[in-house]
Amino acid sequence: MGVRYCDFRELDKGDFDAVVVGSGFAGAVAARELAERGGRRVLVIEKRGHIGGNMYDELDEAGILVHRHGPHIFHTDDARVFSYVRRFSDWRDYEHEVLADWYGTYLPVPFNKNSLEVAFGKERGARLARKLADVFGDGRKVAITELRAQNDPELAEVADFVYENVFLCYTQKQWGLTPEEVDPSVTARVPVFVSRDNRYFQDAYQGVPAKGYTALFERMLDHEGICVCLGTEAESVFDLEFESGEERAPLSAILIKDAPFEGPIVYTGPLDELFLSRFGRLPYRSLDFVYETHDAEFVLPCGTVNFTVTEDCTRVTEFKRLTGQRHPKTTTCKEYSRPYEDPKSQTPYYAILSDENRAHYERYLALTEKLPNFHPLGRLAEYRYYNMDVIVGRALSLADELVG
Ligand code: FAD
Ligand code: UDP
Repeated sequence: MGVRYCDFRELDKGDFDAVVVGSGFAGAVAARELAERGGRRVLVIEKRGHIGGNMYDELDEAGILVHRHGPHIFHTDDARVFSYVRRFSDWRDYEHEVLADWYGTYLPVPFNKNSLEVAFGKERGARLARKLADVFGDGRKVAITELRAQNDPELAEVADFVYENVFLCYTQKQWGLTPEEVDPSVTARVPVFVSRDNRYFQDAYQGVPAKGYTALFERMLDHEGICVCLGTEAESVFDLEFESGEERAPLSAILIKDAPFEGPIVYTGPLDELFLSRFGRLPYRSLDFVYETHDAEFVLPCGTVNFTVTEDCTRVTEFKRLTGQRHPKTTTCKEYSRPYEDPKSQTPYYAILSDENRAHYERYLALTEKLPNFHPLGRLAEYRYYNMDVIVGRALSLADELVG
């Protein structure tokens, strides 16, 4: 059948009984479950000109499959989540590897026993690796903050090295903050790994959809109960009604086509934008992507190279390494992190986690809490640093609740 696209202006309010804002994993999984298990007629509203959220991929001018919102590798330990996404696509086994470009020499990231030997020489590196294993246990993942708290002079030397050559400059580029200033959970995503395992992730299930993410989303949204309106913003479809005219008064109803909408509304966009940023904008980081097609079959030694001590960009990724596509040319993408300043021209990619920003977010969340049919879900609407698998899991759990 294919995805059913429609024009919101041509719909009648009786045409749908559930609304989903956004078509990334949060929105698409929720829509599929509400339609398939809940028997709902679901309207999906997506402001971009395409489905798939940040996972959207397409062929570039050279015919190479590229991810348009940053490289995406699916990884999870959750068998339910992986078996769910497998319903909508065959998968290519792919285990991501990342190398840090350390003044022209490559160090495996997460920094591990192999990186130690590159940085400190084979013999001393092996000795330091044994010490790390003695202190932390072989196979342990140690956050850089934990490693830096050690008093042993040799471990302090390793900690300083990793801090200065892997984390400091990259984190400053990515967040405009030092590693001490970012939430510890952010740098803990990339620990020091007391192991010789060079993979970026150790999850049981890892890969990319064999024909790309867009094809997967096309299948997920291909259901007779789902209709998708592209190029449509929630703000243009919703009329918000509040308990009073006071700034902090909670939402009492969302009107769609002039009537209070009673069915479930799953909202996966930024919460502040829904309320026209009345308490000020939530802080995010955005990214600029610079694509380059090269006249060579491959140009990088692995999927991604992180620039941890040089360059203005944070990292460069070669898509063919991820997708396994065969092509005489290759396309890479460099990522440049920017402050998120203009919702019209930029995308909010990363919530900037801190207690202060969380409190700011909670003020927006409080506006929604008296509206029982409104469900904020996903990386934007929950103001979290969630990976894809967590989003799929959360969307399935929400659907369990809504479908009953
Ligand atoms: P999104 O994918 O952002 O989808 C939200 C959708 O809502 C968008 O399509 C948006 O256009 C739409 N929308 C927003 N506001 C409105 C509105 N007002 N009206 C209508 N539509 C609206 N995770 C991994 O697991 N592995 C990776 O390798 C990985 N790599 C990443 C690389 C980068 C550069 C980034 C930024 C993220 C990466 N992630 C990765 C995280 C992944 O992108 C998120 O987990 C995922 O996108 C979350 O899905 P979502 O549906 O919550 O949000
Ligand atoms: N990080 C770093 N150097 C690296 C890789 C990661 O400093 O080589 C830090 C940086 O602060 C980054 C965070 O660890 O934002 C999380 O990295 P991850 O690769 O998980 O980021 P994402 O893929 O989500 O952008």
